[in-house]
Amino acid sequence: MFGAKNNEPIYVVGHKNPDADAICAAIACAELLCDLGYDAVAARAGEVNAETAFALSHFGFEHPQPFEPSSDAAVYLVDHNEPSQMADGITMEQVVGVVDHHRLGGLKTSAPIYFRAEPLGSTCTVLMKIFTENKIEPSREVAGVMLSGIISDTLLLNSPTCTPFDEQVAHRLAELAGVELEHYGMELLRKKSEIEDVPASHLLARDLKEFSFAHHRVAIGQVELMEFAQIEPKMDDVLAEMERLLDEGYELVVLMITEILSKTSRLYAVGSMDALRVFERAFEGKLENGYIERPVVSRKREVVPPLERAFMEE
Ligand code: MG
Ligand code: MG
Ligand code: MG
Repeated sequence: MFGAKNNEPIYVVGHKNPDADAICAAIACAELLCDLGYDAVAARAGEVNAETAFALSHFGFEHPQPFEPSSDAAVYLVDHNEPSQMADGITMEQVVGVVDHHRLGGLKTSAPIYFRAEPLGSTCTVLMKIFTENKIEPSREVAGVMLSGIISDTLLLNSPTCTPFDEQVAHRLAELAGVELEHYGMELLRKKSEIEDVPASHLLARDLKEFSFAHHRVAIGQVELMEFAQIEPKMDDVLAEMERLLDEGYELVVLMITEILSKTSRLYAVGSMDALRVFERAFEGKLENGYIERPVVSRKREVVPPLERAFMEE
């Protein structure tokens, strides 16, 4: 079932600006492929953030190696499938598998590949499903990193992307990993929202994704916090960084500042007059102090679709 070329090693790699799910899914998927008899290794397409570093050290993993483009290596993509989010240097010919939970976004391959995408809360949930289908029980450590991916992506089972199946899997993984779900989950979310020592440029870049909406290049970032007040002292610098990104050819740069506990986001936007008009139409409001506040937390489910629709209607 897992397509691969001969006996070459398979590199399993998540998206650029990797979050916990991207890194943890790469580790778990590489483990699963090895259990199934393949030679697979986890890699990363960017720096490991503080939240992920905490999860990896908690369960005794080293950071995966940086992905290095090599023309003949087979690649598995995890936690993404859009070419604009792939590690630099990966060609379509190298992709032999995808495990994901995002919309489909333009991947074309020359040969048949293994492709598994489900509308679940995290890629790690999809992977646990595949472990189970293959009657393989993940080790305590792998269960721990998969749990971390789920907690991070679903904001501890609170995001609208979280399904009853994610909840069920999270409880099972917590059991296998030997941690108490609520306690470990809050510890991880606190790490996610620690930003005092993070410079503005890094804050924007660390969870930024690029999209093409009806040929308009749009970047959407997200920072998840316990309270909006945490970012206020840095917001001028962050907005300056957003403006700077426009020079790299984006028409619109959006940043979701998400308050985890109140499940609310301030949607900041900078861009051309036309793009900002589209943005305001998408979120049915007027930018005030640089943002529109909405009861949303999910980029993929609550921000990307209305914005793409508004650009299509242009
Ligand atoms: Mg991700
Ligand atoms: Mg994910
Ligand atoms: Mg995420």
